Amino acid sequence: MSNSTKYIFVTGGVTSSLGKGIISASLAKLLQERGFSVTIQKLDPYINVDPGTLNPYEHGECFVTNDGAETDLDLGHYERFLNVPTSQANNVTTGRIYQSVIEKERKGEFLGKTVQIIPHITDEIKERIQILGKSGDYDIVITEIGGTVGDIESLPYVEAVRQMLWEFTDDCLVIHLTLVPFLAASGELKTKPTQHSVKALLELGVQPHILVCRTEHHLDMTIRKKIAKFCNVHVNAVIESIDANTIYEVPVLMQEEELDKVVLHKLGLPTKGTAELIEWKKFLDRFQNPKSEVKIGLVGKYIELKDSYKSIAEALIHAGAHNECKVDIKWIHSESISPANIEENMNGLDGVLVAPGFGSRGIKGKLHAVQYARENDIPFLGICLGMQCAVIEFARHELGWSDAHTTEISEDCAYPVIDIMEEQKGITDMGGTMRLGAYKCKLMEGSKIADAYNEETIYERHRHRFEFNNKYLEEFEKAGMIATGKNPETGLVEVVEIPNLKWFVGAQFHPEYKSTVEKPHPLFNAFVKASMPK
Ligand code: GLN
Repeated sequence: MSNSTKYIFVTGGVTSSLGKGIISASLAKLLQERGFSVTIQKLDPYINVDPGTLNPYEHGECFVTNDGAETDLDLGHYERFLNVPTSQANNVTTGRIYQSVIEKERKGEFLGKTVQIIPHITDEIKERIQILGKSGDYDIVITEIGGTVGDIESLPYVEAVRQMLWEFTDDCLVIHLTLVPFLAASGELKTKPTQHSVKALLELGVQPHILVCRTEHHLDMTIRKKIAKFCNVHVNAVIESIDANTIYEVPVLMQEEELDKVVLHKLGLPTKGTAELIEWKKFLDRFQNPKSEVKIGLVGKYIELKDSYKSIAEALIHAGAHNECKVDIKWIHSESISPANIEENMNGLDGVLVAPGFGSRGIKGKLHAVQYARENDIPFLGICLGMQCAVIEFARHELGWSDAHTTEISEDCAYPVIDIMEEQKGITDMGGTMRLGAYKCKLMEGSKIADAYNEETIYERHRHRFEFNNKYLEEFEKAGMIATGKNPETGLVEVVEIPNLKWFVGAQFHPEYKSTVEKPHPLFNAFVKASMPK
C-alpha cells in the first residue's frame, strides 16, 4: 500500500437501509471540498458477479459506469455527490472475488496449496480494496461494506478490514453506522442496539473509530456519552445522523457534526480550513426554494420500488433545481395504463418520461403513454426502451404499420423497427454482455438535442441489446420522426425527435447516469424547461 493513501471503511449495524451510501458520499464530499482527492468503493456480499442480472425489485437500479460496469446504485450517489466518474474497480461483489480466486486456482497460481477463505479470499478482497489506492489518483479511498455486520455473507469482508487495520494501523479508519431507535412507548432513544452491533464487530476483532448514529431525534450529551462509554469511542466520535428532508442535506448535517474533522484528525491529516460547499449550498437553495412547479409522469413497470429509477428521479431533481422549478413526479405503473384510463392517468401532466426496461410486461401501457404525449403535444423524453417505444408507436400510428414492434418482444413481427444488434446475435450469456458503457454520439445541428447540449459530439452511457432498424430510417424521416443523434462509427441511431412537436426526444442511451449536483444533465434540464409553464 502506498503510504500516502488512507483507507476509510464504512460498515453498517442493527439493520439494513440506514444509508451507508449517503453517509459515505457525504463524507467524501466534505473531504473533496477540503482539497483531498477521494473515491468511494462498494463491496457487495452477494454471489452475483455484478448486479446486472438482478431484477430491479431485488436491488433497485443497476448503475452503469463509463467503462461499462453494471454496478450497485450506490455508485450513482457517489458520482452525483462527487462529480467524478466511477469505474468497475469501485464495485466488487463476492461473486467477482470468488470468480477471480477460482480462475487463479485453475491456472495453478496456488499450486500445492489448499485454497481457503483466509487467506485467499481475504487477500483478494484486500487487493481489490487497494487497487484504487495504488492507482495513485486518490489520497483517500472510502470502502463501503454492503450488508449488516453479523451477516454470514459479510464475514470475509470484516475479516479483510481487521487484517488491514492490523497491517496499516495509521492509514485505516472504521466508521460504523448504527441505528438509535426512539421507543414511543417510553418516549426514549435506545442505545442498546448500537452497543450490540459494536459488540458484534468487536467479536470479529474490529473496534470502530467513529459511530454514525441514525436517529429520528437529536442525541443529547447524555446519550452521546453513554454510547461513547459502552462502545470505546471518544464522545466527539459519536456522530448524530438525524433524518433529513433530502439526501442532499446530509453533507451539511455531517459538517455540522464535524464528521470530516474527526476523520482527518484520526487519520493524522491536516484539519485546517473547512469544506466551503459553495456550489452545493447554491444547489440546495435552488432546490428548496423553487419558483414554479411541473408535474412529470414517470411511466415504468417497476415503480412499486422507486429505487429502480433512482438516477432518473435524481436527475429530475438536479434539473428542477437548475430551472428553479419543483419537479413533482407522478409515478405511473405502465401495466395499469389502458385506453380506458389513459386520460385519467395522463391528464394534467406537463411532461411525460417513459422509462427504460426489458421484456414485454407493461409495454402496452408505455406505448399508450407515448401516443398520448405525441397526440397531445406534451413534452416527452423516452429513455432506452422508452425511446424504442416512441419508435414503435410512431410506426404503428403515423406510418400505419400496425404490426411494428421490437424483436425483443415479437420476433417475427412484420415491421421489426427495433431489432437485435448484429454483434448481439450470437450471445447466449446474460451477464455483462449488453452494449454497455460510454459511446460517442454525433448530434444533428439545429435539433432539440443539439440545442440542449450545445455540443456536436457527446459521450453517453448505454445498456441495451436492441437498436433502431436503419432499414426503415428513410420512411420514418419522411413521416416526421428524425434521427438527430447517431454513432459516427456504426450509424446506430442514438436519438430520435419529432421536430413538429414542442419537445419530443427519445434517447437510446441513459442520460440519467451522468447527472450530478454540480453538473445537472443538459437533456434533463431541457426536458424540464420544455415542460415548464411559459
Ligand atoms: N430492452 C431494451 C434493449 O435491450 C432496452 C434496454 C433498456 O431500456 N435499458 O435494447
